[in-house]
Amino acid sequence: MIVEMSRTVNAHQLEQLLKSLSEQHGPVHPVSLDGRTLLVCPKALGPVADFDQHPEVLRTVHSTGPFHLAARALYPSGSRVRVGGVEIGGPGFTVIAGPCAVETEEQLAAAAEAAISAGAVLLRGGAYKPRTSPYEFQGLGELGLRMLAGQRHLSGLGTVTEATQPDEVALVAEWADMVQIGTRNMQNFPLLKEAGRAGLPVLLKRGMTATVDEWLCAAEYIMSEGNPDVVLCERGIRAFGRETRFTLDLSIVPTVKRLSHLPVIVDPSHSTGDPALVGPMTLAAAAAGADGVIIDVHADPAAALCDGRQALLPEELKSIIDDLDRVTAALGRPLVRQPARAALPI
Ligand code: PEP
Ligand code: MN
Repeated sequence: MIVEMSRTVNAHQLEQLLKSLSEQHGPVHPVSLDGRTLLVCPKALGPVADFDQHPEVLRTVHSTGPFHLAARALYPSGSRVRVGGVEIGGPGFTVIAGPCAVETEEQLAAAAEAAISAGAVLLRGGAYKPRTSPYEFQGLGELGLRMLAGQRHLSGLGTVTEATQPDEVALVAEWADMVQIGTRNMQNFPLLKEAGRAGLPVLLKRGMTATVDEWLCAAEYIMSEGNPDVVLCERGIRAFGRETRFTLDLSIVPTVKRLSHLPVIVDPSHSTGDPALVGPMTLAAAAAGADGVIIDVHADPAAALCDGRQALLPEELKSIIDDLDRVTAALGRPLVRQPARAALPI
């Protein structure tokens, strides 16, 4: 159960309400979200109707848990998240593209160019890479973040990049528009909490073995620290098939939409691991009701330092987004376009 307070509630009224709520319904967790105070009462399974009458209570929201702030009941029409001037979860379909990892200025510039000319509106690129082997390229760290920020300045594309541990979050917030939490860190609770306090939108990938409840509880960790801007990303789960890198669970998209108000995007690159499957799965993600996709692109996949095998060539990305444009138009969810921007000083 969630009790939403009016913006005019004062400290004394809040204290009184907290006291009587907790006496009747167990622990209460006050959360400040978008300038409003929400009182999360995880044990209040029955009605808290008497509180509806309180002059400073706007509404009570029935949520049975284990997640509450992420529950569909809080915003039944769905929530929207703004990233670098574009919206995820609004009336349009949002395409994010870029390399798995930031490698060099030239490589990133070529990927940003590929993203823009294909019609993507946000640029991805990892500076902190969670690699399976310690001997593989680990990312450029802060230098990579600076390169990403430089490309944001030149291209006008908002940026998405991963943090793998809590102390990287503030740096990502300094240089990028959205922090990604990867599959391997979906239940890294200190990292989730730090992302909740960072004041920038979060792209929360599904843990490769996570249930929906676990995934939405991870989102709840971020939101309960006061950050409402969470976008979920289905990126494939572990199953027994060896034909694809992971198993893309597209049925999770409408499932999560039923349970949560948060926008959901799909990663057809990391899930399939196969450039030939990225196109079909991108179109299928749109048809399944996803709010967007995040796609790997690299001008020279064979030379990529990370995940080159799954990266599309720029012309392949363009052809897929051309097809996607027709599919999303038919679905009544046209592609989100890059906002116009003032010319940069030379
Ligand atoms: C990535 O996006 O580069 C990445 C590592 O993704 P995931 O966490 O889904 O494997
Ligand atoms: Mn990758």
